[in-house]
Amino acid sequence: MSGRDALRPGTRAVHAGLPAAVDGEPFLPGPQFASAFHLTGPGSPEGYGRYVHPTYTLYEQALGELEGGVALAFASGMAATSAVLLGLLGPGDVLVAPDDAYPGVRAIAAEHLAPRGVEVRLVPTDEAAIRSALPGASLVWVETPSNPGLDVLDVAALAADVHAAGARLVVDNTLATAYLQRPLELGADLVVASGTKALTGHSDLIVGHVAARDAEALARVREWRGLHGAIPGPMETWLAHRSLATLGVRVERQQLNAQALRDLVAARTDVVTDVRWPGLGGVLCFTLASEERAEAFLAACTLVADATSFGGVHSSAERRARWETDDVSPGFVRFSCGVEDTEDLVADVARALGA
Ligand code: PLP
Repeated sequence: MSGRDALRPGTRAVHAGLPAAVDGEPFLPGPQFASAFHLTGPGSPEGYGRYVHPTYTLYEQALGELEGGVALAFASGMAATSAVLLGLLGPGDVLVAPDDAYPGVRAIAAEHLAPRGVEVRLVPTDEAAIRSALPGASLVWVETPSNPGLDVLDVAALAADVHAAGARLVVDNTLATAYLQRPLELGADLVVASGTKALTGHSDLIVGHVAARDAEALARVREWRGLHGAIPGPMETWLAHRSLATLGVRVERQQLNAQALRDLVAARTDVVTDVRWPGLGGVLCFTLASEERAEAFLAACTLVADATSFGGVHSSAERRARWETDDVSPGFVRFSCGVEDTEDLVADVARALGA
């Protein structure tokens, strides 16, 4: 945390992690292409880039300011996820996680945690269901808004109950980003996020991070990262840091577009059902009558890429059932709003819905 903590989130994102002004130096120093650093005397993590690197240290300062804690940068959201789940849980521990969590979380739980003696309790993204699974829990993992269901949890209320049960609360903050939601302030112990999505927002990077106020947990996650080498490279890290400056303007436009599209599709009760948008972020979901109708809709859009992932500046959408990993109907569409002019996007989707 720093003096920038008092700033509004958009301002914070513009200035996050920038070093103090020095004449002749850039605002954001360029990437340092180095793996080894001069090191005389006793051994120290600063001597080798897998443990400490000046480019990702600056990016981590930025992420720490955004999340309101101390952050560790990772090579991907899944690298961050693995470090938390595998670095913190061992035999006899109990993990409570959403049955609609990002599929990678469920795969780590089933393929790596359960075989090593961790009890895995999968529950819906629903506060009562999570509370009923709390007795004996060691770590509670939530995604809010969840994805692709877009269900929202009260993190502050949940954190109090999770702590009373003696467990840690981890929030996957990928969808909302630290611009819209700061789970650590609400009482979460750790935040995990894929920076691949709205945080960096250009569909050209894969990065992730963990942020925490829990020093003991963070030390274990840092150790895991150093040992397993799940660090981002300097070029990706620098691009990610540069992208943070526009986080606020990107997310604001994405939300405006999501609201306008929600209004449009909600009015089309003749062809659309189950419209979901939590009023937070640029992702909305809706259901068309069949796989064929959804595929025809996606093919008819001219401004919307048929692509997985979300949070980018280019609008994209996909028929989520194509992955067979989520419990959704064949016509379920996850739509990620980009930063196009709202009128153009609405016109394109209206035309495609008519097709
Ligand atoms: N968490 C959520 C909510 C995601 O949607 C994703 C990826 O889609 C991840 C984590 C994993 O992130 P990455 O693809 O950067 O490894």
